[in-house]
Amino acid sequence: MALTVKTGVEALPGVGPARARSLARLGLTTVGDLLRYYPRDYEDRRKSASIASAPADVPVCLTLMVAEPPRLSRIRKGLELVRVRLVDDTGSLTATFFNQAYLKDVLRTGETYVCFGKVEGEGARRQMTNPVCERADKVRFTGRILPVYRLTHGVSNNLLAGLTLRCVEDCAAQVEESLPQELRQAHQLAEAEFAVRNVHFPADENALAVARRRLIFEELFYLTCGMALLRTRRDKAAGFTFRLPPEKSFLDLLPFALTGAQRRVMREMAADLTSGSPMNRLVQGDVGSGKTMLAAYGAWLAAQNEYQCALMAPTELLAEQHYRSLSPLLERAGLRVGLLTGAVKGKARKQLYAALESGELDLVIGTHALLSEGVTFANLGLVVTDEQHRFGVGQRAALSAKAAGQPHVLVMSATPIPRTLALIIYGDLDVSVVDELPPGRSPVETYVVGEDKRQRMYNFVRKLVGEGRQAYIVCPAVEEKEDPEMDREDFWNITKPYRQELDLKAAVTYAEALRTQAFPDLRVGLVHGKMKSKEKDAVMTAFAAGKLDVLVSTTVIEVGVDVPNAALMIVENADRFGLSQLHQLRGRVGRGKHQSYCVLVTSTHNQDSRERLRVLAKTNDGFQIAEEDLRLRGPGDFFGSRQHGLPQMGIADLAGDMRVLKEAQTAAEELLQADPGLKQPEHAPLLHRVKKLFAEQGDVFN
Ligand code: ADP
Ligand code: MG
Repeated sequence: MALTVKTGVEALPGVGPARARSLARLGLTTVGDLLRYYPRDYEDRRKSASIASAPADVPVCLTLMVAEPPRLSRIRKGLELVRVRLVDDTGSLTATFFNQAYLKDVLRTGETYVCFGKVEGEGARRQMTNPVCERADKVRFTGRILPVYRLTHGVSNNLLAGLTLRCVEDCAAQVEESLPQELRQAHQLAEAEFAVRNVHFPADENALAVARRRLIFEELFYLTCGMALLRTRRDKAAGFTFRLPPEKSFLDLLPFALTGAQRRVMREMAADLTSGSPMNRLVQGDVGSGKTMLAAYGAWLAAQNEYQCALMAPTELLAEQHYRSLSPLLERAGLRVGLLTGAVKGKARKQLYAALESGELDLVIGTHALLSEGVTFANLGLVVTDEQHRFGVGQRAALSAKAAGQPHVLVMSATPIPRTLALIIYGDLDVSVVDELPPGRSPVETYVVGEDKRQRMYNFVRKLVGEGRQAYIVCPAVEEKEDPEMDREDFWNITKPYRQELDLKAAVTYAEALRTQAFPDLRVGLVHGKMKSKEKDAVMTAFAAGKLDVLVSTTVIEVGVDVPNAALMIVENADRFGLSQLHQLRGRVGRGKHQSYCVLVTSTHNQDSRERLRVLAKTNDGFQIAEEDLRLRGPGDFFGSRQHGLPQMGIADLAGDMRVLKEAQTAAEELLQADPGLKQPEHAPLLHRVKKLFAEQGDVFN
């Protein structure tokens, strides 16, 4: 059957319904998807040698004949060996295969194979362990640079490499060229077909480099085109000009004096809001620096000018928390405040919609629910997003689009992002930094401890709870394990040991053990990501109300939760978290008047990992920690799409490919100047790819 890029994966040989489901988990449902599923790495299998000339410790390809029938021996249950003697003109060796009993019948005496692996030992003791073997007349995965893909349960690298090889052979020529020719020439970019072929099965290093450059450029070009399109979609109208009432009337509403940093940012906001152009400001400030008050100021100012304000938070819990803290404060100034989350349903929701539409409400605080179709505003003047990195860029734009005209935009984040990245995300963005914590906060005391201190740590929990405090215990979520079973067909190619199942302390079993063994007398609650948000909120609310002593959780509590009585944060398997994430977690304590503590538990003996954790013990400065994180872990981890809300990249590295990014950005701006909206027919393939990249962010371009 002739394949096209649109053919479903189940039409490929060897893919049944079960495999198709596994592939779908990687987002692979068509031939086109496979072609766009770029390798994460490569294995060079080009070197060949004879038995006599094979180097020690470097894997090579050898062309060998099976000299006698393979022997199968069962050492014990779960351990079977197949041994076979292989020869070439220069000598002989023994190959040993573990737990691949079927090889006994597959490897035929007198047949020639290409075997890839390391030759160990000397003379008569030469041997190979688990080499990759292919019949010499049917080589596919030896003698070339082999792609290494990201895998999932039920999908081996061999399966994927086999599938992509077939797709590349049949369909690379069908891949549509999405970059205009002049652009390719100006930037010296390879053609789409060449790039797709060579990114999977490169002819050599040079071809790979050329292919990768084209694909990285292409992806960043789609990204920057998409971002520019999002921006031009916004109305070009001038901003709403606010009048400025005396600052004091706002300050008088507050139960505390604002910090110098908060006051400075207020004035920066005021300057924007009165300037006549729309505000487009990012407020960065470490956890606990008091960013919420700046949102309150914005909402208050908007209301004084008869504009509405929408404040969007990433979770119901946060939205409710903002509602609880802001509504009493602002209601004193006469503002009418509403809360809109997924939990608000039926009649209550209808009423809220009506109140927003009629202008009865001055401020609405909510989650993604604010983006619902039914939400319309009488005169939306200011859009605030909290923890902006949790939202897709398209979602923020969608909220602004609900205003008649171009609203003022304020985004708040505790995650520092580099300037270049900020530029792609926000365009011309002004940045304010809240670089001061409210007074009276004593820094959280942080300790890195091993398993040997577990009992002492539990005693410490008991002591603090005895004093009336509360504690968080965070464990990493359970990760999906990779498939330890080998597929039969995979015998051609399995050499790498599978990753061991990670012995993560699953929150559920751990909470149970705490409840029954360590703290039978304490009130222990549990929240994890798999719970319904209603259940989650119920537990969190109980904790906030002091009805629980200990809260066991996965990282769902990471974002912005404020329980001032919580004075202890314990993080299990702390080495599995990024430093910035740990810093965010630590920010959940030390929010009240009590001395607070953070205990990072690790059983790792790896000195580097421990050293990394000690950075947290040494500093409380989120920006310094972020930098350290970047230095130690590299940009890949730090800039996961969760950190900035941009679409997931397939090949480009947003932090690492800065030069290409700039180039792509300039090229995108030029092209969009010539064809705003990419409406010309020759740009249709490009527009299609841009939309596709942003597709998971919701229908942002329609
Ligand atoms: P974040 O910047 O992490 O969003 P919040 O706005 O949640 O921080 O503020 C953290 C806590 O500090 C809240 O309980 C808030 O009421 C309090 N807070 C904010 N500003 C001040 C201030 N100037 N003085 C005292 N407490 C403050
Ligand atoms: Mg906050």
